[in-house]
This record gives sequence, structure tokens and C-alpha cells, in this order.
Amino acid sequence: MFENLSERLDRSFKLLKGEGKITEINVAETLKDVRKALLDADVNYKVAKSFTDTVKEKALGQNVLTSVKPSQLMVKIVHDELASLMGGTAIDINLAGSPAIILMSGLQGSGKTTFSGKLANMLKTKRNKKPLLAACDVYRPAAIEQLRVVGEQVGVPVYMELENKNPVEIAMNAIREARAKGNDVVIVDTAGRLAIDEQMMKEIAAIKSAIQPDETLFVVDSMTGQDAVNTAKEFNERLNFDGVVLTKLDGDTRGGAALSIRTVVDKPIKFVGTGEKMDALDTFHPERMADRILG
Ligand code: GDP
Repeated sequence: MFENLSERLDRSFKLLKGEGKITEINVAETLKDVRKALLDADVNYKVAKSFTDTVKEKALGQNVLTSVKPSQLMVKIVHDELASLMGGTAIDINLAGSPAIILMSGLQGSGKTTFSGKLANMLKTKRNKKPLLAACDVYRPAAIEQLRVVGEQVGVPVYMELENKNPVEIAMNAIREARAKGNDVVIVDTAGRLAIDEQMMKEIAAIKSAIQPDETLFVVDSMTGQDAVNTAKEFNERLNFDGVVLTKLDGDTRGGAALSIRTVVDKPIKFVGTGEKMDALDTFHPERMADRILG
């Protein structure tokens, strides 16, 4: 495991003269530690650089109380800045529509189908909703089957049209079905590719403009680290999504993608996925994520 920031800074400040105060010299030295810690947590390098510049300004000239070690003060400044950048309190999803329409986007393997099931489960059990899942991945029969299984696990109906290869039509028909059957939320699971490609982007943009979702969520695997930023940027340029779902945080990643994405696309992270089971879903807490990034 990596050394955590507190340990790193402790070591650095000990090696420096004038330990009692955060000065220009020891800030420059210790910011290297901060940057290393962020990079180890998979924060994008450009984001890590601009973050440390901000921290430098905040740290300089701060008088260290005799009861607080300069390393501790520095950790606190870094922690608070991380939490505030990742955005104050948790922001809910928009369920105003009747039915409310939620569109999933993201690369293949990011966890869209799993998250669709988890969200349906949460809305049903915690918020008294009657969701309908819509299977719009027309390229992989296995994906439709996976959504069917997920729906069965959480006791939520799945709308699918095995012969139809037009995802826009399927999504529209699913919404019609929801109206007819009294479902108040439609969760639209879409196809992803292993890498960004033009056809996938066009398709999801077409689905979005046809169904006019109340909420478009971008799902991203937190283990993809540095790459997560580029993916988020491209999806946001095409879809202008409303929120981010960070999956696979039960793995050993420190979750630096949270900071990178928040900084680069400036959209709130709304949920985190913490396992393969249908109840492994949490709302996003910036403070906890800051702790995790710092180790
Ligand atoms: P999709 O292609 O975007 O629909 O992705 P899937 O929902 O099929 O997920 C891809 C793989 O990641 C599956 O094996 C899931 O079980 C797994 N997965 C999804 N979310 C999580 C999570 O939060 N934690 C873990 N450990 N695995 C996850």
C-alpha cells in the first residue's frame, strides 16, 4: 500500500528547517508530497497540478499553532480543499417527470446495467417508486439478458424488444408502456463500446433528444483512473449529462477519478457503486471521498 499523505508530510517537514511555520520553502517541498499522493490516488496529473497550486496559496503564511504540527495543518488544508472541490452536500436525481425518465450513459463494462438494477432497487424499496427498466442495448443479446436477470433479482419489470434494432424506438415504446402500466420511473439502459466511438455517441445523443430525460447519468469505472477524465469530457460534450456515477469503489482504487471528473466537467457525482450486489449503492459523500483519496 502507498504511504499516506500524513506520513509523507511528517517525514518532509522533519527534514526541513523552520518547521514551526508553513513558509515558501517548505510549502514548495511538501507540495511535491501532496502531488505524489494525488497521483498515487489516480488523480489526473493536470488536475493534481492545479490543485496543488490552489493549496499553496491557502497554505502560505498560515501560522501553525503550537499544538498542531505543520504536517497536520497541511493535511487539513488539503483535505478541506478536496472536499469543497468535490462539492458540498449530496445532490439528488430529478424525478419530476411523469414518468420520470433516467438515461444511462457510459462505456461498456463501466457498470451501467448493474447500476440500473441498483437504482431501480433503491427507488422501489426506499422511495416507494414503481420503476420500469428499458433494455436499449441492441447490439449484444447478452446485455439484454443481463438486464432481464437484474430486473428479476430486484423484482422490477424489464421492457425489451428482442427483434427491434432501433434503440430510440425501444426507449419511446418503453415510456409508452410505463404510462399504460402505471410505472412512475423509466430507467433506460443503453449500449456502450469499449472505447469512445462516433456511432455510439450519435446513438445515445439521438436517444436523449427523443426521450428528453429528466436525468442523464454518466457511469464510470473508478478503476480506470487517469482515463476516466477523457471519457467524462467527451460524454459531457455530447450529452451535457446531469450527474456522475462512480462504480467499483469496493476495489483498491483510492478514487482520484472523483476529483478529476469533478474538476474537469464540473458535474456532481451523485452515486457510488460499492460491489456487484444489488444493494451495493451509496450516495456520494465528498468528505469520505477526500479521506479515501488521502489514504
Ligand atoms: P455495462 O457494460 O456498463 O452495463 O457494465 P456491467 O453492469 O455489465 O458491469 C460490468 C462488470 O462490472 C460486471 O461484472 C459487474 O458485476 C461489475 N460491476 C458493476 N458495478 C460494480 C461495482 O460497484 N463493484 C464491483 N466490484 N463490480 C461492479
